[in-house]
Amino acid sequence: MGPCQLNWDKDPAAPRFSIAVFPAFRLPSMPATSSAAPARKPALVCPAGSLRALQMAVDAGADAVYLGLKDATNARNFAGLNFDDEQVAEGVRYAHRRGAEVLMALNTFADARDDTPWRRAVERAAALGADALIVADTAVMAYVRDHLPQLRLHLSVQASATTYEAIEFYRERYGIRRAVLPRVLTLSQVQHVARHTGAEIEVFGFGSLCVMVEGRCALSSYVTGQSPNTAGVCSPPSAVRWNETASGVEARLNGVLIDRYAPGEPRGYPTLCKGRFVVEGVRDYAIEEPTSLNTLALLPQLIDAGVKAIKIEGRQRSPSYVAAVTRVWRAAIDAAAGSERYSVQPAWSAELGRWAEGQQHTLGAYDRPWR
Ligand code: SF4
Repeated sequence: MGPCQLNWDKDPAAPRFSIAVFPAFRLPSMPATSSAAPARKPALVCPAGSLRALQMAVDAGADAVYLGLKDATNARNFAGLNFDDEQVAEGVRYAHRRGAEVLMALNTFADARDDTPWRRAVERAAALGADALIVADTAVMAYVRDHLPQLRLHLSVQASATTYEAIEFYRERYGIRRAVLPRVLTLSQVQHVARHTGAEIEVFGFGSLCVMVEGRCALSSYVTGQSPNTAGVCSPPSAVRWNETASGVEARLNGVLIDRYAPGEPRGYPTLCKGRFVVEGVRDYAIEEPTSLNTLALLPQLIDAGVKAIKIEGRQRSPSYVAAVTRVWRAAIDAAAGSERYSVQPAWSAELGRWAEGQQHTLGAYDRPWR
C-alpha cells in the first residue's frame, strides 16, 4: 500500500519533526473525561478496518471507533484495510450523528528520512474531523502540540508506557489525554498506574495478543525487513506464501516455514511469534500459542480501578467479528457499570469463543498466578 495520494503542498518553511528535547512545560488543565460514556462507565473503543466495520461497530454500541489511513502511518498497514479521506469523512459523519467518536491511529514511528506522510496524516486527521489521534512517536506528538493543539492525543500501546512516570512524561510534555496500557501489566499494576496519573487509562479487553513487547517487536523485520513500528505491518502479505505439499499446507514468510497444517486443521495468518517450530525434537508453538485476551471476568475490577476505556483489538478482522464482539462488550459494560451483581453470561463467553484466535481465551498478564 503506497503513501497517501493527496497532493498536499509542502511548505518548506514549515517546522520539521525533531526529537530535540523541549523544555518541560505543563499544559493548561483539561477536563478529566473526554469520552461519550458517563464517568463510571468505561468507553467501548472498537476497531474499524473498513467503513463497513465502522458502521457495524457504531450500530452495535461502540462509544468510539479507531481507524487508520492507507499507508505506513498506522500499525495495520495491510492491503484492503483502512480508509481514504472520503471514507474517513463519511465514517466521522456516521459516528458523530450517532454520538460516537472517531480516533485515528497514527501509531507508527516516523521515518527519519522522510517524515512527510506523518505530518500530512496529522493535518488530514484534523481536517477530516477525527476526535483524537492515537500516537506513539514523540516527534508526531510534538508536531501536534505545536501546530494543532486542539487535537486530542491518546498514547498508543506502541509507545510501551507501562509506568505512571512514563505516562506523566507524555502528559506533561505533549499533553496526552489518555494512555493505552500495554498488555504486560497485572491487574494491581493497572490499578497503581491509574491511581497515579492524571491521564485517562485505556486497557485492552478482547482480541489477539502479541508476545508482550508492544511497539518493540522486530520478529517480522528479522525475516521480511518490515515490522509494525516501522512499516506498519507484521508479516507483510507480499511475503506470505501458502503451499500445498504432500505433508500438508505450508505457510511460509519470505521463504521461512512458519507452520504446516494437516487437512481440515484451522489455519492462522502466519506470524513468527505464533509459528510451530521443532525445539529439542518437539514440534510446538515455541513462542506463543494462538489465543485471545478476554477480560470480561475482570470488568468490575477494571471499572473500580478507574479505567476510562476498554479497547477491542482487530482492525484486520471482519465487520461481522466487530459487530459480534462489540455487542457482547456493550452488554457487559452496561451490566458491570450498572449493577453490583455482575457476572459473565455464558452466552457472552460462547459468542466471544467463536471469534477468539485459536478458539481459546486467556486473562493474559492480568492474571499471573506464579507471582
Ligand atoms: S511477530 Fe507476533 S508479537 Fe511480533 S508484532 Fe507480529 S504479531 Fe506481534
